[in-house]
Parts: sequence; structure tokens; C-alpha cells
Amino acid sequence: MDAPYAKLEQLEPGIARVLAHNPSAFTYYGTQTYLIGTDELAVVDPGPDLPEHLDALEAAIGARSVVAIMCTHTHRDHSPASRPLAERTGAPIIGCAPLALETAGPRADASFDGDYAPDRQLRDGDSLEIDGTNVTAVATPGHTSNHLCFAYQGALLTGDHVMGWSTTVVFPPDGDMGAYMRSLDKLRQREDRVYYPAHGPAVTNPQQYVRHLAGHRMQREKQILKLVAERPRTIPDIVANAYPGLDPRLVIAAGGSVLAHLLDLQRRGLVEQQEELWTAA
Ligand SMILES: [Zn+2]
Repeated sequence: MDAPYAKLEQLEPGIARVLAHNPSAFTYYGTQTYLIGTDELAVVDPGPDLPEHLDALEAAIGARSVVAIMCTHTHRDHSPASRPLAERTGAPIIGCAPLALETAGPRADASFDGDYAPDRQLRDGDSLEIDGTNVTAVATPGHTSNHLCFAYQGALLTGDHVMGWSTTVVFPPDGDMGAYMRSLDKLRQREDRVYYPAHGPAVTNPQQYVRHLAGHRMQREKQILKLVAERPRTIPDIVANAYPGLDPRLVIAAGGSVLAHLLDLQRRGLVEQQEELWTAA
């Protein structure tokens, strides 16, 4: 694929990125690791533990000091390189929480990085300074329960909460559609100038884009309510009707999204579940 793997791309003063070579149906061309700062740096979403990506990051960092290695969340395409990069640079890992111990069983899924161990966790609104400029955590649960975005100089690094190429996967039990919608609302209250997602191009019309994403989910919700109002349905039945012509690699993710909608609707008293079948309440 003709993507700028292992190259340092300067996006604006103080914000650069390096693309990791982990393309897939879920990651687009791969994970984009961001370097923020000029004389000193924070590395955001170091990515998968791939030696060539770590080499590219080390080359991009050069002689500059790394103040923090920051992760938006702990999916395997985001946080595993935090450990080898901490070893290579001596920098602390500062950012999202690990999933709490009692939730590591049922809430964790296959794509979850269980070895993630931050030196310091950031809560909503917590900041740290890079080159005298604040990077501030914005808690945005939904895609995962521990997801953070990072605000810097009017830009928002959105991780997987808002992606530039596709809608975000919200996969229960850790993914939560109600939380995701509230986190979209939270971005609508902000005035970020641009989003830099971990996957896909920069979003230069954030307000409009977030409105579009929320509208898309509301349409999907309506469609699911209509389908289960017609007759009781299983999730595969709903997926087949709601996502015609879906890429077979995405069927499981679509099922997860439908389940996330159904659980949210159930919480709001609008649907009921009996064994495998979902019906309107
Ligand atoms: Zn993710």
C-alpha cells in the first residue's frame, strides 16, 4: 500500500505523526502515532509493538527528550509499544487508566492490551506541560471505558473516539453506546479547531463531523427499533437487514455495534431480550 509508513510527517508546528505498518479492516492504513512538542516531546498512541515502528519513532525523536508516552486507550494497536519505547527513551507512561482488575475478565476482549501499566493516570481535565504548553486529557468513554482524547494548542488528538475514515467500533461489554453518545456530545461543547485521529486523515470541520457521526448513530438506532418492532429478531438477523452488502470481515464488529445499541435501548426501556431474540418493549 502506498502509505507513508515510518516517515515523520509534520502536520503543523508542534504536531507531527508517524504511521505504523499495521493495516487492517479496523485500522485503515495503520495506527498513527503523534509527536507533540518541539524541543521536548510527548508521544501519543505509540502503537503496536513492531520493531520497525519503534525504530522510526526513535529516529523521529532524535536527540530530543520525551516527557511522556501517552495512550488514548489500551487496544492492541495503540498501547503495546509504550513499554519498549519507555525502555528506549526512559520516558514515563502517562495517560489512560488500565482496565480495572475486577473488569479485566469479562470486560476485556481479545484486542485488549492487558500488560499496559502507566506510571501516572490522567483523569478528565488533568494536564501536563510539553515545551511550556499544556496537553489536557478529555475523558471520552464509549469505544472503551478508559478512552481519553488529548487537547493541545486548539487541536484534539481523538484516538479511536472519532476516526477520520470510518465510524468507531463500539463493542460490549467494554464498549458502551450510551457513553459513546455522551462523549460525542462532550466534543460538541468544545471548540477544537481540528481533530487528529489515530486512524485516517485529520478532521478539519470537527463540529460538523461530530454532528454527522451522532446523526448516523441515531439513524442506526431508529432502524434497529423498527426491525425489532416488526418481529422478534436475533442479532445476526438485524445485522443482515441493517447492513446490506457488508464486508464479511466486519460482520462481527457490526454485531457488536448492534448489541451495543440494543443494550443501550434496553437500559432506556425500549427493547427486551428473551434468550437470543430481541423485541420492542
Ligand atoms: Zn481502539
